[in-house]
Amino acid sequence: RTTRSWADVDAHLERSIVRPDESFAEVQRRAQEASMPGIEVSAGTGKLLGLLAEISGARRVLEVGTLAGFSTLWMARAVGGDGAVVTCEAEPAHADVARTNLDAAGVGGRVDIRVGAAEQTLEQLVEEHRGGDGAAFDLVFLDADKAGNPRYLQLALQMARPGTVIVGDNVVRDGAVLDADSSDPDIRGIRQFLQDQGEDPRLEATAVQTVGAKGWDGFSLAVVREPAS
Ligand code: SAM
Repeated sequence: RTTRSWADVDAHLERSIVRPDESFAEVQRRAQEASMPGIEVSAGTGKLLGLLAEISGARRVLEVGTLAGFSTLWMARAVGGDGAVVTCEAEPAHADVARTNLDAAGVGGRVDIRVGAAEQTLEQLVEEHRGGDGAAFDLVFLDADKAGNPRYLQLALQMARPGTVIVGDNVVRDGAVLDADSSDPDIRGIRQFLQDQGEDPRLEATAVQTVGAKGWDGFSLAVVREPAS
């Protein structure tokens, strides 16, 4: 009997049910050529994001952490031609590759890549939102530095509406989420992010552990509630 691994099962699921088209391989190829880290979501998770956008009828998506635009492409496809994705990326070189990738995949016109530290970009977006320049976001995907997640959540909530879906990646990190005394800012950020979602009366939230090509990890999923009347 051959040894079976999580990664093998992920590869099988990718071939049999997820079935990403060639554009996604192109995104990954250009990222590799640019020596970018292979820390994009798996194809299965990318498609889950697309399906969540579709199921929730999302037209406006906010992403924090673009990298080469792999997850961006899944969500940009899902919002359709009249939809929009705003994605925040700190590294100009990553944003450049993402721009090439999204243009080549034919969705560039619906993706606004904001280059800069996410906290400042989100503060700017909140200002634009308050000024009436931007409708509420329907789906938010947080996938940059995890230390920033508590702040990103609070800023995203200022641009949300009842029904907005919020997804946070990498909330398990090989179980490191259990380390209450961790000095790692990302682990501290993840723990605070989960606690904030659990305690915030504006949110109904859960978190799901995952295994696969990306190891043992997980994501959180929340929906913004109607305010109590
Ligand atoms: N969501 C992408 C995907 O699945 O295809 C992967 C994003 S990768 C895990 C994280 C990205 O966030 C990197 O490109 C990194 O440069 C960016 N990043 C890290 N810290 C950031 C910050 N403070 N503000 C904006 N972007 C940041």
